[in-house]
Amino acid sequence: MATPIGNLRDITLRALDVLAAADVIACEDTRTTGRLLKAHGIATRMTPYHEHNAARVRPGLLRRLESGEVVALVSDAGTPLISDPGFRLVSEVQAAGIDVVAVPGPSAALAALVASGMATDRFLFAGFLPARGPARRSALSALAGIDMTLVFFESARRLPGSLKDMAAVLGPREAMVARELTKIYEELRRASLPDLVAHYAEAGPPKGEVVVVVGPPEDPPGDLDDAGDIDEPLRAALEAMSLKDAVAAVSGASGRARREVYARALEIRGGSKK
Ligand code: SAM
Repeated sequence: MATPIGNLRDITLRALDVLAAADVIACEDTRTTGRLLKAHGIATRMTPYHEHNAARVRPGLLRRLESGEVVALVSDAGTPLISDPGFRLVSEVQAAGIDVVAVPGPSAALAALVASGMATDRFLFAGFLPARGPARRSALSALAGIDMTLVFFESARRLPGSLKDMAAVLGPREAMVARELTKIYEELRRASLPDLVAHYAEAGPPKGEVVVVVGPPEDPPGDLDDAGDIDEPLRAALEAMSLKDAVAAVSGASGRARREVYARALEIRGGSKK
């Protein structure tokens, strides 16, 4: 069940009813969930369920459910299972033939998306990118050709580096950094990826939690007019990454055959301006 992503008042009335009526609340951190329960006068017992004890605790939760108890699952903030624990529990509960009921509510990814002004008809939630440059760039390459708004979770510390790789691999798309959503220092910063790179290069990593929303490519794959169209993104990609990653990124983003992009990359590298 979804809990607030910051503001303790951002919880649905139904979620409060379910928490109050449950036999036990499985939560990541009893102190965090305890504050939420206290704020709303709920006395239901809690039991820790997090990535370090999940395998050990799951059988006990399943037994309780099989004996007819109601177990509510919450994460520290937002929606469980969305980059948070719960997936295995839900799949095992379903496999045991026990009902699972979603209690929707706050979600950092959706809050950022709807505040971004980017297209919402189709979007891809990409979770956290890998922490290190080469793996991050190759993960971005795999997303470069997707004609949808992209939503990323990111740590504030890694934000400047990730934005740099996004600009190099995805090109100069519109993007938004949504920081501290629903909290006192909430901030929405919308600009092109290169402008966001410049901003955080100067300002340094922000404080708090961030979501990055990146708009779809302006020229969806296959819409480019001639081979010259790939030169600009290819030059930027070659500056930021290996030849192989640059070719994969630009081929994915442009829809052009890898061998064609590879040939052009060699020409650019060799200084030929055909
Ligand atoms: N399950 C949660 C949800 O549905 O919102 C997400 C949990 S995930 C472990 C934590 C990440 O969510 C953070 O690194 C950040 O990217 C994002 N996040 C959570 N709360 C946020 C907030 N108030 N403002 C911006 N981003 C937030």
